[in-house]
Amino acid sequence: MPSQLIDKFNRKITYVRMSVIDRCDFRCVYCMDEKMTFLPRAQILTLEELEWLGRAFVELGVTKIRITGGEPLVRKNILHLFQVLGELEGLKELVLTTNGSQLVKMAQPLKEAGVKRVNISLDSLKPDRFQKMTRTGKLNIVLRGIEAALKAGFKRVKINAVILKNRNHDEVTDLVQFACDYGIDITFIEEMPLGMIGEHDRAEAFYSSAQIRQDLEESFTLLPSAETTAGPARYYRVINTDTRIGFISPHSHNFCDTCNRVRVTTEGRLLLCLGQEHSVDLRRVIRANPGDIMALKQAIIKAMAIKPKGHDFELDEQPQILRYMNATGG
Ligand code: SAM
Ligand code: SF4
Repeated sequence: MPSQLIDKFNRKITYVRMSVIDRCDFRCVYCMDEKMTFLPRAQILTLEELEWLGRAFVELGVTKIRITGGEPLVRKNILHLFQVLGELEGLKELVLTTNGSQLVKMAQPLKEAGVKRVNISLDSLKPDRFQKMTRTGKLNIVLRGIEAALKAGFKRVKINAVILKNRNHDEVTDLVQFACDYGIDITFIEEMPLGMIGEHDRAEAFYSSAQIRQDLEESFTLLPSAETTAGPARYYRVINTDTRIGFISPHSHNFCDTCNRVRVTTEGRLLLCLGQEHSVDLRRVIRANPGDIMALKQAIIKAMAIKPKGHDFELDEQPQILRYMNATGG
């Protein structure tokens, strides 16, 4: 059995993003509909199944696992999963994407469990607007969460901001200033057409990374940087600061050639590409072969043959992909 994952375009897969829950305490307008139906419990992977998956991937040469959701930190007993994954030999980076709502109490235990880096979503620094964009979120709790993460001493803390025209596009400079003040990184994300959201027209809300960069250059000097975190972002350094700015631009910059990642949905579907439906049902494999890690590893290796060359997002009115970001694992 091969000890690494290589797809048919010769890309080595070393990074897995696992969505551990589809539920969330927020309802961000670009991610969820106001009324969402969540998966029945029996359909989502158990914590033991998630551990098992993590172990199989690491044995197949994966060195980085990102835990995401939904909101991963609202899943009961999730800390245990971090503790188990944090001990896997060969896993160099255990990282987390969170909305920050639980970090006041969880930042320190997560750090102790071996989480290296944390991405925290923050789209606005204005309490009213923050609440409108997240529908249920409270800005001050997230800000305190960011401070708790800094205090816990993660190797890197980063802000993720989805920018929508006429919603928060006028805050890009303030968000970068916030990142500079705290000495942390920030990534701006173009909205992706995942799921039917109904709340706004995605084509109208589109605000490009190029436009954001132009806006920022009125206040900051940005130096292009060759740095990569094995992700799709392009990076700039803000001169005279510790802050890097990343831009994830699925519409204007196709990042597929160097794709090194796959995703596992909350239901255990191995997604070979964020923007395509090619997938393999790993939950079925796990449940049909209890305790048999070889069967699981075989299924993962076999799946590499169907990893597509790239995604193909268009700013159509209808989403091309009907699954929502929360179950996909953003
Ligand atoms: N709940 C956590 C959070 O918000 O950080 C983790 C899951 S969330 C789905 C992961 C990331 O996906 C967040 O940074 C969020 O802003 C982003 N996201 C959600 N829906 C998106 C969309 N339609 N287009 C682009 N980014 C999206
Ligand atoms: Fe929840 Fe994250 Fe989606 Fe917002 S982006 S609704 S915080 S899963």
